[in-house]
Amino acid sequence: MLPKAIELEKAREKLLKTATCKLTENVYVEKSLGKVLAEKIYAPINVPAFRKSALDGFALRAADTRGATTQSPVKIKIIDEIPAGDTRKVSKLACGHGVKILTGAPLPPEADVVIKKEDVNFKDGEILITDELIENNNVIPVGEDMHKGELIFPEGELITPYHIGVMAALGLTDIKVYKTPKVAVFSTGSELKFPGETLKFGQIYNSNLYTVTSLIKTLGAQVCTKGNVADDIKTIESAVLQSIDKCDIILTTGGVSVGDYDFIHKTLEKIGAEILFSRVAIKPGSPVIAAVKNNKFLIGLSGNPAAAFISFELLVKPLIHKLSGYKDINTKYLEVELQEGYFKKSPQRRFLRVHVAFENGKWIARQTGKQKSSILRSMIGCNALVDIPAGSGPIAPGSLVKAVLIGGGDLTCYQP
Ligand code: AMP
Ligand code: MG
Repeated sequence: MLPKAIELEKAREKLLKTATCKLTENVYVEKSLGKVLAEKIYAPINVPAFRKSALDGFALRAADTRGATTQSPVKIKIIDEIPAGDTRKVSKLACGHGVKILTGAPLPPEADVVIKKEDVNFKDGEILITDELIENNNVIPVGEDMHKGELIFPEGELITPYHIGVMAALGLTDIKVYKTPKVAVFSTGSELKFPGETLKFGQIYNSNLYTVTSLIKTLGAQVCTKGNVADDIKTIESAVLQSIDKCDIILTTGGVSVGDYDFIHKTLEKIGAEILFSRVAIKPGSPVIAAVKNNKFLIGLSGNPAAAFISFELLVKPLIHKLSGYKDINTKYLEVELQEGYFKKSPQRRFLRVHVAFENGKWIARQTGKQKSSILRSMIGCNALVDIPAGSGPIAPGSLVKAVLIGGGDLTCYQP
């Protein structure tokens, strides 16, 4: 008999309740993409640390230009040239003197304005100013971007490429982040072969192992061991027991239903794991088992590819995020127009694979292909899952429905 299915949100709550992230590590800033900061970042320096020119031109004192007009221009003698990276401190500028300056170069202390190169005529070591210049024009002040001592990031910030840039601009080299979980991945199924092997009749290539390990990497987590395991309870048990101490999550695919060769549930019971749930009320993806042993998570996904990945997106991804220290693990929903509609009745809550795009002022969802749980190909182009409530009748074309963003849709960071 099939075990009772629990509601998706309840399953997620059970799974996330016990998941915590405490361990931290120091990493180089450039290796921190997709990780979560485990410390506050204060600016150790001003950015910029000196007043600099915003453009190529001439730096001078604004006061020297008072009264300048086309009829009575002010003559400024250009006494030096300062390119970007010039580390000299240019000696005092006397009244009526200026310097040629290039974008990003430090201003002499007395200069307080920069006039654009294109706006003056530089001839015989002089420029003629025909207008009064306003103080601080084209001058980037000290600390305009970031002030020394200012709190730049709170603890818990998810590190994006821009965070990495900000930390580099502050001159930081290493930072404290939360450790990301280690995941062991096993595909169970006596029919499975690796690409490169010759298939005999009745055998298939194992695609789940490749998808799941790639999904884990995109979440910034680490795959610590992986492999194919035959449908044999002893082999499954020994794979689980051998890896449980080395990882935070053991993720399997296949063997979670009630067939004679579906051994995941029996294995988890046999090793004394606490079963959190063994079926979730979603389609595809209802056969999914979650258990805990020694604070390690054991999760069995369906062998059917789409079922496995939909359960992964809705349950495993938030778990990996929580174990990685993410503060925001809520599912992100978008209201979309289901362009072609959906004509089947949905006694169970159903997730449709769609591509969502913003067109003519609204979010439009189009199905990416066949929707059966065994169909892998329609995961291609799928950036959202339309959430059709249980008991829905046919959905008319153009109806507004809710969609969960998946993959890059929620700006998941990609780890090299
Ligand atoms: P199961 O969940 O073991 O009942 O498998 C359901 C379906 O998924 C079967 O048709 C399997 O052959 C297929 N399947 C199981 N594991 C994999 C895998 N790793 N890659 C691709 N298909 C698989
Ligand atoms: Mg099987």
